[in-house]
Amino acid sequence: MNITIHRGAHQIGGSCIELATKTTCILLDIGKALPSLDETIPVDTELLPGVKAIIDKKVVDAVLISHSHGDHVGLIGQVNSKIPVYIGKAALHIYNTTALFIGGNALANPTIFFDSSHSLIIGDFTVSPYLVDHSGYDAYGFVIEAGGKSVVYTGDFRDHGKKAKATAYFKNHLPTEIDALLIEGTMMSRSTEALATEDQIEKKAHELMQSSNQPVGKYRFVY
Ligand SMILES: [Zn+2]
Repeated sequence: MNITIHRGAHQIGGSCIELATKTTCILLDIGKALPSLDETIPVDTELLPGVKAIIDKKVVDAVLISHSHGDHVGLIGQVNSKIPVYIGKAALHIYNTTALFIGGNALANPTIFFDSSHSLIIGDFTVSPYLVDHSGYDAYGFVIEAGGKSVVYTGDFRDHGKKAKATAYFKNHLPTEIDALLIEGTMMSRSTEALATEDQIEKKAHELMQSSNQPVGKYRFVY
């Protein structure tokens, strides 16, 4: 199995990873790069040449989308509409609904929905999706096996939200031998930041709303 990280190794988001055997090729996510903090740097809105090349060559058998955030799914509209897309059912609904507001199109590709309790066969690959906790609803991590090798792709995840048990289940059911771990490192450079849990944020939001005698939106604006 060959692994090509087209984007995402040196930045947050914009993820796109190619897994290939001699006869099967799949893409894990096809994200749009997040805007740079330097506003003079334009946002890259095109497929990377290496990704476009394999799509044009018609060697991509499937695109797996971990969740509906733009830095993981944002360029799916540029993928040949005949290529099957594997995605969560609710995540697809979010993607299609969001498209109405940002001027995009609903996904036209054939879609297969993830089910945490069932593995999928895509050519040489066996893909086991696991629901994970993330701010993007209906997010998945994967155990992917082919030719006796196993790869784990986490997608984005957290362990302090409403579905923390889902992430824990994923972690507890990983194979004992993993040949490659592809893990999001969004927080790796923020190790000294004090971070609130989802419960703490909810409590703080509740307190702010309770203390306001105005509509909360207006209150926030004044605040
Ligand atoms: Zn995300």
